[in-house]
Amino acid sequence: FGREEDDVQVRIVTDAGQPAAVGEHGELLVRHAGDDPRYGFSYMDASTGEFLATEFQTIGELCEEIVKLRPLELLLGDDSSIDAAETPVKKITRLPARDFEHSNALERLIRHFGTSSMDGFGLAGMKEGTRAAGALLHYIKDTQKSDAIHVRRCSPYSTGDYVLLDSSTRRNLEITQNIRGGGRESTLLDILDRTKTSMGARRLKSWLLNPLKDVSLIRKRLDAVEDLLEGASLRKTLEELLKGVYDLQRLTARVSLRAANPRDLAALKNSLEKIPGIKAALKTITAGSPLISEIEASLDAVEEASALIGRAIADNPPMTVRDGGVIRPGHDPALDELRSIGSGGKDWIASLESGERERTGINSLKVGYNRVFGYYIEVTRPNLPNIPADYIRKQTLVNAERFITPELKEWEDKILTAEDKARELEYELYSEVLAGVSRYSGRIQSTAERLSDTDAIASLAEAACSMNYSKPEMNDGDSILIEGGRHPVVEAGITERAFFVANDLCLDADTRVIILTGPNMAGKSTYLRQNALIVLMAQVGSFVPAARASIGVVDRIFTRVGASDDLSRGQSTFMVEMNETANILNNSTSRSLVILDEIGRGTSTFDGLSIAWAVVEHLHDNATSRPKTLFATHYHELTELSLTKERVKNYNMSVKEWEDKVIFLRKVLPGGVNRSYGIQVARLAGLPLRVIERAREILKNLEKGELNEAGVPRLALRGGPREEKSNLLGVPAMAETEPKGGRGGRGAEDPALSPLTPPGKGHAEDRLREELSLIDLNSTTPMEALNILSRLKETLKS
Ligand code: ADP
Ligand code: MG
Repeated sequence: FGREEDDVQVRIVTDAGQPAAVGEHGELLVRHAGDDPRYGFSYMDASTGEFLATEFQTIGELCEEIVKLRPLELLLGDDSSIDAAETPVKKITRLPARDFEHSNALERLIRHFGTSSMDGFGLAGMKEGTRAAGALLHYIKDTQKSDAIHVRRCSPYSTGDYVLLDSSTRRNLEITQNIRGGGRESTLLDILDRTKTSMGARRLKSWLLNPLKDVSLIRKRLDAVEDLLEGASLRKTLEELLKGVYDLQRLTARVSLRAANPRDLAALKNSLEKIPGIKAALKTITAGSPLISEIEASLDAVEEASALIGRAIADNPPMTVRDGGVIRPGHDPALDELRSIGSGGKDWIASLESGERERTGINSLKVGYNRVFGYYIEVTRPNLPNIPADYIRKQTLVNAERFITPELKEWEDKILTAEDKARELEYELYSEVLAGVSRYSGRIQSTAERLSDTDAIASLAEAACSMNYSKPEMNDGDSILIEGGRHPVVEAGITERAFFVANDLCLDADTRVIILTGPNMAGKSTYLRQNALIVLMAQVGSFVPAARASIGVVDRIFTRVGASDDLSRGQSTFMVEMNETANILNNSTSRSLVILDEIGRGTSTFDGLSIAWAVVEHLHDNATSRPKTLFATHYHELTELSLTKERVKNYNMSVKEWEDKVIFLRKVLPGGVNRSYGIQVARLAGLPLRVIERAREILKNLEKGELNEAGVPRLALRGGPREEKSNLLGVPAMAETEPKGGRGGRGAEDPALSPLTPPGKGHAEDRLREELSLIDLNSTTPMEALNILSRLKETLKS
């Protein structure tokens, strides 16, 4: 249970039921025939007793949750036909379908928790979730052969409370695992994790994977982070104290399961003893934020538990009870008595050697002990004539003989019996202590939760302080404004912070789609991801790497990377890219943030460009869902979308040419780039001048073909009449009414339309005339007029 990387098992129960298949990424695809498909889902971390249940409407959501939790074991009903061999979960266990029956499941939960219903836990309306939870609990008890008494509640949770981050978004943004090997280096978690306890580390990780959507909850966390950020010395104190806190969640679970060893108890006590200090430290914050006060108030040192351990368990106890010396002297008179018999006997034996030497005059006489013969007196061969009469021979060695005396045997018996009894008694006493401490495990668990929060908040404050983050302003509005934003991970990798160039972002009602162009290596991908990460961090309640940020909360973040950019996954194909893109088009809302990086790159240029163009059009035109979109592309043709789509804005990663070199300025500037610098690079590489010149010529021709006679991007043309009117610079007729196959009545071979053949002068004048006549002055804005004018001038030049 627990997460996979902690090397403990996670068990998940789901009643998926229906026929299943395995998808492209190895995810489980379960087709459900029911009218109201709802999937019950429950998971338990048996090492901490965490036990949750939820429900999903679709199998896709269920699969996302499974992938997110990375369970080691998945429990399924035996009527479900998921192919165990091909799932991403290594261990799949089939349970009888009757374990999932609602009445059975409910009955088991009720019996376990000793309640009359599950309503008090909030599971009242959660029939499917209850079924999963009941089956899971039964399985745990059955396989662990325990009462699982550390499982003290089953809490409903809803993934609806959190920003939806699907698996490819989590991968692309490298939140907790990097793209290269799935490791932790160079991830957001790696940068932000300054936690001092493993509880805190788990909490922070879970926060990062589950950003909040509720503005007031986000603000509450942000305020708490601010409190700790402002108190630098307080933070130091807290960190020192937290360093001494062990994993209370696991320790308590072990106590409840009677599996805790003496050192665990000592660790538990030492940890609990840090709590008054932590409370006091938090109290020093004057006018603390509500969350800090809440935490402070509910931190409970559970003194009864630490006092009990303190009374009963010795300082620095051994690992196991069997070794003895676990129970503190003075805790139990009977044990003390047995121990004094034992030690009295040992004292007697210790004094025996000198006594016997004196009595016998044998200076080399030794008293020793071995397992087989017990205590003995050893006399070397030359001294044998001098031994007293009461010595009884026990063993003969080469150079010596070993003896016992009746008195020695008597003491030996006493010692061994006392030691045996003491060991038994210690074991009993220890079990009593465990039982005693486990009575407080509910309180300790609650406190552990609050300590996890404290540690995670302190970690965010420390990160914010050391990396100069600022507090984002959160709202329910529809825009995202970022000033001086930085990429948290890339900036940390750059040795001199000054070298990371900060960039702004503005996405609002007027700017829904940003087309970001620029040559390779200019910093496009970095810019896209940094903005997604800033939004994500803000909604986690973290400060952000930006000078200023004002963020209308998002409901989902989608991130897609064009196939050939996605080097991490060998099987990555264009198909995967398109699947993912389809998912965005189908599931994004106006509150979503969509990051598209070089989408369409995995296929031929024309294909890719067409798909990219159509995707942006769809995202822009869709009346019900207009996600805030950042689209990085090397297809500079896409910048022409802004001519026809009012909420599409062009930006570019600026570069400068200087002494034969392309210098990356890393600054995002308004406007598109109209070239990709490929030819410059080719020239630098030493391609013959004639080839370069010819390439320029061809490029010009190609570019000329991009706009039609009306200055409308050719890519914007539609094949047939459409209801949707796109207002093309006041010349709607051109694009809207063209019949299929022919363009404006001209043949397909018309040289003016063939991009590779430069049109003659006469043609240009014809086109000018035609274009002018088509302009509808009544519906042309001054801005559009200027644009048209500039296009017309271009036409003349050619
Ligand atoms: P592109 O996607 O345009 O090809 P990348 O985003 O992959 O470019 O950036 C290339 C490299 O440039 C990154 O590895 C990073 O080291 C550097 N870089 C990107 N953005 C910045 C920036 N704003 N400031 C400094 N260096 C940057
Ligand atoms: Mg890139």
